[in-house]
Amino acid sequence: MTIWNLGSINADMIYDVPHLPGAGETLSANRLDRFLGGKGANMSVAGARAGARVAHIGAIGPDGRWARDRLTEYGVDTRWIAEVSDPTGHAIIAVDAEGENNIILFQGANHAITSDQLGQALSSADQGDLIVTQNETNLQVEAAKLGREMGLTVCYAAAPFQADAVRAVLPYLDFLILNEVEAEQLRQATGQGLSELGIEHVIVTLGSKGARYHHKGTTSDFLAYKVQAVDTTGAGDTFTGYVLAGMDRGMPMEQAILQANRAAALMVTRHGTADVIPDLKEVREARF
Ligand code: ATP
Repeated sequence: MTIWNLGSINADMIYDVPHLPGAGETLSANRLDRFLGGKGANMSVAGARAGARVAHIGAIGPDGRWARDRLTEYGVDTRWIAEVSDPTGHAIIAVDAEGENNIILFQGANHAITSDQLGQALSSADQGDLIVTQNETNLQVEAAKLGREMGLTVCYAAAPFQADAVRAVLPYLDFLILNEVEAEQLRQATGQGLSELGIEHVIVTLGSKGARYHHKGTTSDFLAYKVQAVDTTGAGDTFTGYVLAGMDRGMPMEQAILQANRAAALMVTRHGTADVIPDLKEVREARF
């Protein structure tokens, strides 16, 4: 089976600066690191590292070929990533000596995905495939609707939270994943509790407290593994990619969550995003 991921691809440009720049200030950075990022790309890499076949649907600019190449290198099918004239989505992240940061996000090519591109990609989908979207691209509502019409399992990570997008996508979902803050935002946006949404599988990730699974009126809690966390960036995306890979393999959801919990715990012990997401062997062998 294949996981079709309509998702963002970003260059995370991390500048080490002596202090965060003030208004009107010109500041020299001591160092620049460029990483592959974006929720979509992170989830694709996590799914692939978990052993699933993942096809990414997205867009880059001419400056982003390295990002597509890196996704290919990590085992993601990149045939449906278009190159457009807009610049590749990117985050300009300044980090000072204390680790405080400020971030400028530019969505760029992530919002230039076309309906034709989406339709063409999904015309290769088979019954039983999964489609997943998040909120860092355009077309997530169209993708969810098309996925439902085609009989695919429709999955959605409600991040970053956007009330309009979430409300529009909800009727098509088989699986919803969100963090604690987003769960509260959803409750405010819909006036409904998670069990009232009519979605078969709902997972709320709870950071260092683990995750809660809502299914057919019951809830099950999964405690997080105890680790020394050094960087929680990408933990949620790693968790989601591993859950999707488990679902894709036909695992019971509880088992998929246990594996995702291990993968995300290992991830928070590492600095970085897509480039350091652990693979299945590391996840199985990890001793917590
Ligand atoms: P992010 O936006 O940083 O990727 P998120 O807010 O989407 O994260 P969280 O709920 O913070 O997601 O974390 C996702 C999963 O990562 C948790 O369900 C848990 O499995 C794991 N995790 C996060 N923080 C820790 C921690 N300190 N120790 C162990 N596991 C953790």
